[in-house]
Amino acid sequence: MFPFDYLRPQSLTEAIAAHDGEERRYLAGGQSLLAALKLRLAQPSALIDVARLPELAGMRQDDGALVVGAAVTHAQMAAITAIPALADLAGSIGDLQVRNMGTLGGALANADPASDHAAAVLGLGALIRTDRRVIPADAFFLGMFETSLEPGELIVSVSYPLPRRAGYAKTRNPASGYPVVGVFVAETESGVRVAVTGAASCPFRLTGFEMALEGDYSTAALEGLTFTADDLSRDLHASAEYRAALIPVLARRALGCGS
Ligand SMILES: Cc1cc2nc3c(=O)[nH]c(=O)nc-3n(C[C@H](O)[C@H](O)[C@H](O)COP(=O)(O)OP(=O)(O)OC[C@H]3O[C@@H](n4cnc5c(N)ncnc54)[C@H](O)[C@@H]3O)c2cc1C
Repeated sequence: MFPFDYLRPQSLTEAIAAHDGEERRYLAGGQSLLAALKLRLAQPSALIDVARLPELAGMRQDDGALVVGAAVTHAQMAAITAIPALADLAGSIGDLQVRNMGTLGGALANADPASDHAAAVLGLGALIRTDRRVIPADAFFLGMFETSLEPGELIVSVSYPLPRRAGYAKTRNPASGYPVVGVFVAETESGVRVAVTGAASCPFRLTGFEMALEGDYSTAALEGLTFTADDLSRDLHASAEYRAALIPVLARRALGCGS
């Protein structure tokens, strides 16, 4: 690990002011960033601890949406009652330590191709609020570990529109808990949304499945639908063909769970 300064600002304004260069990094739960530092994959001159900022804390319901602060942990989200599928998803992440330390903002900014949270923000059409703008989930993920966040841009909260019903199903890597593939299905005010994580370099929506479920939100509507292995990931956990085969299976399971 390279040497670095540790800063703990007391407010959002102080945190943003502290990020005065690309070499500085925000620190939330440290579950991904500290591993990157130990492996010398990152060499920031300073870490700016945002985990205890009051502006990034707490959850509230506001005008038909659930607003979750960026520093809310996976364990705290596992207790959500407004969107049971989101609580189930958060409760399925990693192990107890990862859930107690890891945060929503850190998970989204990190943009791991197998992030569970990515499936929910995309599947629910969430809005990601930063210190400078609001980014729709559809425009947030650009590639593997790549988002539309600009240098120094801080995620403050995520606003999830309350769905009529939603469910999440994943095939869990037994060692880490990360989804080999995960599928989030939701019926929202603006239509049905189906989002996949773990299958490719970044999460994506299944528009063919969404069209099939529009007007008939049932497993029968997905009968015969498949997904091609082209462009899907292949690694030591699964082949692209296996991931492709999992997608319709998990979509059907997601329809049958949650509410
Ligand atoms: C053993 C293990 C198992 C795991 N299993 C799973 C799993 O099953 N499913 C899953 O989805 N994830 C899993 N994870 C990842 C976990 O969810 C992490 O919590 C998450 O990736 C990073 O969150 P963090 O709060 O620890 O962020 P950090 O590690 O502190 O930061 C990650 C990145 O986000 C940036 N950042 C942090 N907060 C903000 C913010 N508010 N605004 C802008 N940038 C910010 C940091 O600068 C850094 O670049 C696992 C991790 C481990 C170590």
